[in-house]
Amino acid sequence: MAELCTACGHEVRLDHFKICPSCGHYFPLNPGERIALIGDEGSFVEMEGTMVSANPISLAGYEEKLEENRKKSALNDAVTIGRCTIEGDAVIVGVMAFSFMGGSMGSVVGEKITQALLEGALEGVPVILCTASGGARMQEGIFSLMQMAKTASAAALLEETGTPLFIVLTNPTTGGVTASFAMLGDVILAEPGAIIGFAGPRVIEGTIGQQLPEGFQRAEFQQEKGFVDAIVNRTDLKRTLSFLIRTHRRGEVSHVG
Ligand SMILES: [Zn+2]
Repeated sequence: MAELCTACGHEVRLDHFKICPSCGHYFPLNPGERIALIGDEGSFVEMEGTMVSANPISLAGYEEKLEENRKKSALNDAVTIGRCTIEGDAVIVGVMAFSFMGGSMGSVVGEKITQALLEGALEGVPVILCTASGGARMQEGIFSLMQMAKTASAAALLEETGTPLFIVLTNPTTGGVTASFAMLGDVILAEPGAIIGFAGPRVIEGTIGQQLPEGFQRAEFQQEKGFVDAIVNRTDLKRTLSFLIRTHRRGEVSHVG
């Protein structure tokens, strides 16, 4: 099925990588597509797939908005977690969906990310989290902000066990997700051109009264500033993750060929 590229306007046919063949623009991947790309075929087993959000601050219209997003995205919330293998190695993965309320982190996203990290810590299995988020889910008020501390604490527990956390930042990763677990990986990868930041450029320009440099908050800029370790093409993502898993095994001498 042909679709219009949002970057170059050409009508293009996309394969499973979903990269525009005309201009190289990266289309967003939903969690199922991302997992199919990095996991071994048929190896994925979802965890906590039926968890749904309550309305913790009794905000009018929130339940309807959740229902609308569940229907639109065929997801129960903005992250999918589970187990799979990558080139035969067991991992725990979490993949965020920007299509579900802008990938915002509420109680369900925070709880599922935390469970993924704690499972990894318990079993000594590497955790891979692919982020895409506008930030905290304002509809859950303080419960949303609390997820930053909760996920960061879980990442610290994982680290204490000496189990690696690999982050894949995809477009866009901003706000409370950037300010918590997304920056706590042992290795932080990013997709080319992804916007990565905390506040948006307009807010920052308004606050500091200065114009921001070209390419501000793009993955390449963040790599130059030391926030991102490597920018990885989507076509190389599985191979790169497999390499990282093999080279970060605890207490073993790696023979990577
Ligand atoms: Zn294009």
